[in-house]
Amino acid sequence: MRCENPDESILGKLSLREVKDIIEMVTKYSPSKTGNIPVTSNGYYCYPDPRLEDLGHRSSSDDEGWPRERDIALYRYKDARREYGEYVWQVKVGWESTNGEDFDYIENPPVGEKFKLNNYWIQREIDTLAEELTALRDLCSGLDHSTSTLEEWAASGLGAAIVCCEAWCSRDIVYVQNDWLIERAKLGLSLSDLMGRIRCTKCGKRNAKLRPYPNRA
Ligand SMILES: [Zn+2]
Repeated sequence: MRCENPDESILGKLSLREVKDIIEMVTKYSPSKTGNIPVTSNGYYCYPDPRLEDLGHRSSSDDEGWPRERDIALYRYKDARREYGEYVWQVKVGWESTNGEDFDYIENPPVGEKFKLNNYWIQREIDTLAEELTALRDLCSGLDHSTSTLEEWAASGLGAAIVCCEAWCSRDIVYVQNDWLIERAKLGLSLSDLMGRIRCTKCGKRNAKLRPYPNRA
């Protein structure tokens, strides 16, 4: 569906831009930089909160022809183990490249292409979809809040996934327990101090990000 005004509501009270923000928030809580979610030994996917467990997401791009297209999708699986790959619902929002002055972001700035958020697609619009998305927003902003400083993160009981964000680095994610965060918080380190100290053992760069991850007992 086209939607030239992203601030117009498309789903209950949610606008296209709000739906886009929610998809991005949930995506952030998948520990991998590529969107592949680590699987635990019992076959479950690992998110920092069980309410995120049966969600999946992906992004795609199409550079053939004009306009170029970018989209991100969020979906809820019928089965958290994803054995059948069937969805309860799926929401996708998309951007198109534009030459106009009305755009939302520039890819590879400053010379890159401009993109405008202007379309969406909903597979199986159920009555509770807007409500579910709003609840996901609340959940993720709560997680944002409880992991905004190292002190709060240590107090939250969550562990962390350490991801090297260098584009071509294929270093596996490293998982640390809540204790590890508590020890470092006690040293008086800030979250950015801590990230600045982590050097990737594969590419040698200091470009690590910490993502909330369930603490393993
Ligand atoms: Zn690396």
